[in-house]
Amino acid sequence: MLRRTFLKSLPILAAPLAAKGRDRVIVIGAGLAGLAAATELAVAGRTVTVLEALPRPGGRVLTMRTPFFAEAGAIAFADTSANALRYARDLHVEMKRLPVSKLTRVYYLRGRRFTVKPGEPGEFPYELTPKEKPLGPDGILAGMIAKLNADLGPRTRPNWLQTVGRRADRLTTIDFLRSLGASAEALELLRWTAWYTASADTQSALQTVLSGMMIGLPPQQTASAIPVGNDTLPMAMAAKLGKRIRYGATVKRIEQTKDKARVTVREGNSIHVVEAERVVCTLPFTALRDVEIKPGLSKVKAEAVSTLQYEPVTRVFLQMKTPYWEAAGEQGEASTDTSLMQVLATGPVLEAYTQGAGALSMKSYSPEERVRIALNDMELVHPGAHREFVSAAHQIWDNAYSLYQPGQFSVWYPDLIKPEGRVHFAGEHISTLPGTMEGALESGVRAAKDILHQ
Ligand SMILES: Cc1cc2nc3c(=O)[nH]c(=O)nc-3n(C[C@H](O)[C@H](O)[C@H](O)COP(=O)(O)OP(=O)(O)OC[C@H]3O[C@@H](n4cnc5c(N)ncnc54)[C@H](O)[C@@H]3O)c2cc1C
Repeated sequence: MLRRTFLKSLPILAAPLAAKGRDRVIVIGAGLAGLAAATELAVAGRTVTVLEALPRPGGRVLTMRTPFFAEAGAIAFADTSANALRYARDLHVEMKRLPVSKLTRVYYLRGRRFTVKPGEPGEFPYELTPKEKPLGPDGILAGMIAKLNADLGPRTRPNWLQTVGRRADRLTTIDFLRSLGASAEALELLRWTAWYTASADTQSALQTVLSGMMIGLPPQQTASAIPVGNDTLPMAMAAKLGKRIRYGATVKRIEQTKDKARVTVREGNSIHVVEAERVVCTLPFTALRDVEIKPGLSKVKAEAVSTLQYEPVTRVFLQMKTPYWEAAGEQGEASTDTSLMQVLATGPVLEAYTQGAGALSMKSYSPEERVRIALNDMELVHPGAHREFVSAAHQIWDNAYSLYQPGQFSVWYPDLIKPEGRVHFAGEHISTLPGTMEGALESGVRAAKDILHQ
């Protein structure tokens, strides 16, 4: 039977905890990684129980619907997201290309507000070299990406990670761009205009390349989203898994012996132990630090779990009466070196998307103070913000996505994907696309295959 037919006919069953541990697989976490692992295992006929601490599926894919609509977690799928496209198609979840705006883009940099028409280089208040000036930040970045791709070659080459990949893993993103010829002023400009460069001084260039963080998202490339909310995909996957998922179930301990794994879980006021043949652990390492593991992890995994860093993100959403910037022929999305960093727009909602040190600074204020600061800076970017303001919402992510430092990914990855006895590991941080939804799905599929092929 075709896999798609299998998925359609996957019965929505209860999987009572009393079921024998022999053939059971416990999946820890109902984010995209856990949902993908559980789906593949259930489709293959395994008894699966998913333990999820929150009362909802999706983890870092979170759509806000009140007081207004906004994506509070992951925003866009890169066009190359094969697993996401496959699950969306199988579950009849509609994804749509995000439109590329033809309106002028606003910048507020070095105390100056100016606009740039799409496709034009613009006049930026930076001392760019004569070669860089006619390109503008998007052109400079596009040129460097082309150079970088030529330099790194196809990732499908055998031993790519251990050879070419390891070379890119020695440098931070900023050092890598510098090595490709970017001037100091161009680097400064890209810091504010390119996506995901808030931690470019410390993040491994390899992770930036792998994730496509710098290359996979608008305005550099087209991407897709689910118009009714990105959480529709994890919700559809969770609906298929039905009662196999136990919400409000926080894992406290993972123990294994030669012939079984035992997971200690807290549900409400009760603590109990669930036995299984295998475990797939999809917890971000920050969460895994709070779980007792017996016997302890091997050296590389233990080091990775205790030291892997994550990018903090603070998002402040400002609902306006209307998308008033459009009347001036301007798009809502903007780049600025004020407290707002990247400005995003969805309908009449403007958003300050802050990362790294900027996110920590935004987080340190009270909600009222945060809105006051965001509105004041939004007035500089999109004049009229105070007049048009209706209401605000916030979303703080202390650990939004993994942030590998130079020398970590290419060395750790081959060990991280190896199971420790009966326990397998997955999650965006253990994928070839770290920091992305597609990476999370890919890792869950990989862990399920490892179990099924044993
Ligand atoms: C602000 C933001 C913007 C992003 N933007 C994008 C984007 O535009 N494009 C993109 O591709 N990706 C983006 N991402 C990244 C993407 O959301 C993640 O890579 C992906 O969703 C991670 O999935 P996961 O299953 O690995 O982890 P998670 O989604 O974190 O799932 C782990 C689950 O484990 C649960 N859990 C934690 N501790 C326990 C415990 N002890 N017991 C039981 N359960 C537990 C958690 O509640 C959670 O549901 C963004 C993320 C954020 C936060």
